Amino acid sequence: AKERGHDRIALVDGDRRDETLRRLQLVDALHHAVARGELRLEYQAVVELDSGRVVGAEALVRWQRPFEPPLGPSEFIPVAEETGLIAPVGAWVLDEALHQVVAWERARPAAAPLRVLVNVSARQLDSGDFVETVAGLLASAGARPEQLCLEVTEGVLQQQPDHTRTVLRDLRALGVGIAIDDFGTGYSSLAEFRDLPIDAVKIDRRLVAGVEHDRRDAAVVSAAVRLARDLDLEPHAEGVETVAQQHRVHELGCALAQGYLLHRPAPPEELLPLLAPDPTH
Ligand code: C2E
Ligand code: CA
Ligand code: CA
Ligand code: CA
Repeated sequence: AKERGHDRIALVDGDRRDETLRRLQLVDALHHAVARGELRLEYQAVVELDSGRVVGAEALVRWQRPFEPPLGPSEFIPVAEETGLIAPVGAWVLDEALHQVVAWERARPAAAPLRVLVNVSARQLDSGDFVETVAGLLASAGARPEQLCLEVTEGVLQQQPDHTRTVLRDLRALGVGIAIDDFGTGYSSLAEFRDLPIDAVKIDRRLVAGVEHDRRDAAVVSAAVRLARDLDLEPHAEGVETVAQQHRVHELGCALAQGYLLHRPAPPEELLPLLAPDPTH
């Protein structure tokens, strides 16, 4: 029994060593990922439920390492945040997404105005020069500020409330949109939302998932939508997977929706045919 115990300890230590090694290799590889052009963006269409039109697209980063399966953001964004690599990764994402929205508009000059939604981490907002970075990237891509909406999670607002508010206010002064992501999963008090410099709330897909069958999820979504509308914020449902969910969130007052039912995240060329020409042209 003693020997077995030893074996088990050795195994655990070995596992931990492998895990640490794997992580170090990941950090090292991530250092080079931007320069080597290994990151790419997929885009998930945002649909206006009343008209069925695609009015925007959310940029979602992927990492294609050579000879390895691609990694999704949840596998490397947390590491990027911890190591500070989120600054170059985040700047690359913004730059790429802004060039893309300009390219779409050029390819579909008659299409209605289109927005690109970009996720930003707390660490990026806290960098000290984020507003200047965004302004510079908008100018160099030739994008209008209205073509960009930044998504931040509720948690971001709790870490450095005053500083974050100032940054968000400055971004909005530029004309950039701000959305609260994963709304309904944090612990913000409703009162906190009153004074926030934001334009939209994206209701988390875990709540949307329960909207058909779970009376309490439906009540939370309904309250969130009403609060958003009363504060002149655009309520947006994410993770719509079924027709019933789509109908229910529409009925509850969500103007915009995203989800696998509507469109899956896809490479930019697949979005182009979805950008309908402006009906007035
Ligand atoms: P998120 O911002 O909440 O993005 C939505 C996630 O849900 C995406 O996963 C998307 O592919 C997935 N999704 C969309 N529709 C559905 C649906 O109908 N059902 C289900 N089950 N899932 C759906 P993804 O691409 O793996 O991204 C995960 C998270 O990584 C994002 O969550 C976001 O927080 C973060 N992320 C992605 N790109 C970036 C980035 O460029 N920068 C930062 N800081 N974070 C990013
Ligand atoms: Ca998001
Ligand atoms: Ca979300
Ligand atoms: Ca999320």
